[in-house]
Formats: sequence, C-alpha cells, structure tokens
Amino acid sequence: MSELKAQSVVEVEARAKLGQEINDSVFSFSELPFQEYETSKYLTELLEREGFTVDRGIAGLPTGWVARWTHGSGGPVIALGSDIDGIPKANQKPGIPWREPLVAGAPGHGEGHNSGQAVNIVAALAVRDLMKRNNIAGTLLLWPGVAEELVAGKAFMVRDGVFKDVDAVLFTHVGSNLETAWGQPMGTGLVSVEYTFNGESAHSAGAPWRGRSALDAVELMNAGWNMRREHLRPEQRSHYVISDGGDQPNVVPSVASVWYFFREQDFAKIQNSFDIGNTISEAAAKMTGTTVTRRIIGTAAPRHFNRPFAEAVYANIKAVGLPKWTADEQAFAKLVQKNVQADKQEGLAVELKKLEPPLEEPKSGGSDDIGDVSWTVPTITVRYPANIPDLPGHNWSDAIAMATPIAHKGVVAGAKVIAMTTLDLLTDAKLRGAAKDYFRNVQTKTQTYLPMITPADKPAIEINADVMARWKPELSRYHSDAARYPTYLDQLGIQFPTLNKPAESGGN
Ligand SMILES: [Zn+2]
Repeated sequence: MSELKAQSVVEVEARAKLGQEINDSVFSFSELPFQEYETSKYLTELLEREGFTVDRGIAGLPTGWVARWTHGSGGPVIALGSDIDGIPKANQKPGIPWREPLVAGAPGHGEGHNSGQAVNIVAALAVRDLMKRNNIAGTLLLWPGVAEELVAGKAFMVRDGVFKDVDAVLFTHVGSNLETAWGQPMGTGLVSVEYTFNGESAHSAGAPWRGRSALDAVELMNAGWNMRREHLRPEQRSHYVISDGGDQPNVVPSVASVWYFFREQDFAKIQNSFDIGNTISEAAAKMTGTTVTRRIIGTAAPRHFNRPFAEAVYANIKAVGLPKWTADEQAFAKLVQKNVQADKQEGLAVELKKLEPPLEEPKSGGSDDIGDVSWTVPTITVRYPANIPDLPGHNWSDAIAMATPIAHKGVVAGAKVIAMTTLDLLTDAKLRGAAKDYFRNVQTKTQTYLPMITPADKPAIEINADVMARWKPELSRYHSDAARYPTYLDQLGIQFPTLNKPAESGGN
C-alpha cells in the first residue's frame, strides 16, 4: 500500500465516531423517498461546516443537493454518491432481532440507505486533509440519491447536468460483503408509470347504468397484464399497486389509478414492456368507456460499470479486507437470519468475494437509477458490509443491524476503500484515461444512453408528503441526539447484542 493510502486509512479510522453519528442520525430520521428533508438538512449543514460549498434544490428535487470542495486548479472532479431514503412501514428498533417497531406503522431504513453518506463523508474528509497536506489538486463532489426507492431521482440529475464536469463517479451502496463489479451486473432497468383512468360517477345502486367505473378499468388492465406476463421473457419483472381505487362503494369511481414498474434488462426490452402496458391500458379504457392518461414517475437505465475502476477498487478491497466481527455480532446475525427463515444462516461475511467477469446472461432482479449515471460518466458501485446477508430486502429485518456495531464497522471498511480509490483517481491520470477509454470504446461502442424521461417530465416530489407529515411528529421524538448519548442504541436503552426476549411479566 502506498504511503498516501496508508495515511488515508489512519484518517478514516480517526473519523469512525463521526461515521457512527452520521449513520445513526440518518437512521433515526426514517424518511421516505422525496421527503428526505431532515436528512438533507443534517448532511448539508455538516458538509458546510467542513468547508464544502453546497447547492440545494438541484434538478427540481427539493431534497437534492451537491456539495463541492476544491483544492488547487485543473484537477479532476471525483463524485461520491449514495442514497438516503427509507422504506414504507419498515420502522424497527435497531439491535432487536425480532419484529419490534419503534413507531408502529412508520417508515424505516429497511434497506440500509442510512449508511452510505456516512461512508462517503468520512472518506471525503480524510481525502480532503490529504489533498491539503500533499498539495493534490482536484474537486470532491458529494451528492445524494434522492427517492432511490422509487428509482425516481437520478435520471433528473443526469438530465439537468449535475455530472457534466465529473471525471468519475464512485457510488456506494449498503451490502453484506465488501465488493464491486464491472459490466452489466445482476438486475434490470425500469420505467415506473402511473396510469389514471377517468370515468363518470353515479349512484352505485340508484343509477349504476349512468356510471363509468375507472376502477373497472384498473382491474381489467391488471387482469390483462397478468395474463400477458406469461408470454414475456422470464427475466422481466413487473408489479403494481392500486394508488387510487375510488372513494366509497356507493359512488361509482370516476377516477382510479394504478402504478406499474416494468423491468427488463436492456433499453429496448424495457421500452417493449412499457409499450405493451400502454396498449393494455388503452384497451381497458375502451372496454369500460373511460379514458386513460399516464405519468412517468421514475426510470432506471440498466447498469453498466467501468472495468478499470472496478479493478482499482478491488485492489483496495483486498488491502482493506472485511471487518473483524465479534462472536456476539455473529451470534446476533445468525439469530436474525433464523428469525426470518433465511436460506443461509451463516452469520456475517468472513470471506471476500472475487472480482469476476460479468455473466454473459446476467440474472434478473432489482434496479437502481445509478444506471442512468453509469451511461453518462465512468461509474462504479462499491458495496460495503454494513448489513446481515440473506435478508428479504425492503423489509423491517433489513433495518435491524443498520444502527448497530455491524453497520458502524461496515461504514469504516467502506470509507477506507472509497478514500483509497478516490486518491487513486485524483493522482493517477493513466487510470482515468483507461476508464474513459473503456467508457468510449467498450461500454458505449454499440449502445448509448437512452433516457426514458422527456424534457417535460418533472420529479414526483409530492409523493409521500402526506404519509411523512403523518409520522414526522412521532418520529421526531426519537431523532438521534449524538451530543447526549454515545450511540443511538444507548439513547434507546437497547443492549447490544440482545439475544433473548425478556420473559413475559405475569400479573393481571
Ligand atoms: Zn438501495
């Protein structure tokens, strides 16, 4: 390891406490997509205190921002990004290995997006000090993934030019190992679209023949799609919720909406699924004498990650290695896995994965709108071991470890890799050149970026405003108070690891 990288490890370790505080604070805000107001206020104020210049409300996203810090002139611009939003109804006490919400019914970090900015900020502050000390020119640009759980933020940031002067994007995402990949990883891209049908209301008993039910159209669209899906590639993924099913049974629903995700593995196939959905929506409108409109809420390009970056990251991953887990942490992780009936109940990762070439036919799965960024700038995602392996995802159990020593150790490991790789990118022009060459001559040789949002589309920033307003007063009582308590677990009076349920008290 170079002397500079060794220093970065020392600088990261010196900020382990700050990483824990950021991780726990964002966990405690428990904010839903587009409503990350407390989170963004906290993070941007922290970055301003550290000398970063912050631009708020970027790309039509009230909770979006970009924070920059520059040393010298003419150096490269390295962007560090990570998501910040939570999951509906996933509220859960950290460090408790069974279902026990802090605020029942409220949102929570049931994916672990509370940890990524802790990784990036700790890494950025370590690198900033080394840039000053060693006179390394360059700009650090920090940014959040807003509304990633709706895959509805990053395409707007790309469209509005947030990455136009950026040389490299290092993206971090919570995981259960320390790993990276190049090429097209497992997963899909998608279009997220809400169809709204308009009919005519009438008294459901008195004059039903005068009504035209928008809800009937929604149900017929869903029936049509569910039959058609048998005749689509098994790699496609599609799902819907009825976002408006009418008001009350005795009023024929004049308006109803259904919200679809259409996922596939390349741009043309996503568009094909979207076209079929549109056709079915129009057919359902015809059958019911209603009309239909649609609104794009989010999009994600299929991801493609940069090979030279991945190789540079992997060298740093090998140098850093996985955190040393205690026997208590392993026992706790296995208990959580047992409680959610995980396929594998082997505890926390103890072996690094290899950097493998991408599969010729990648497996299907979820999407991330970092895909849009990856077709704009050479980009890589680094996953760090802040969570327990083999949990369901988008679930309360995924929040359990996210404000415990497991997450805190994972954040430090991730920050070391990001700090070391940022130094590589700042100081190694050959690496930057190789990354650009791969981006131009391999990745985009036969396929270029096809954005699915149009200049007229706007971020759906009103989504979740009512739900968040409902929960915020109660959640505020549990905001992390790092000035008074060493950790959030201490604040909540939770002993870690908790392995046994307290005996039921007897009595009346
Ligand atoms: Zn995520």
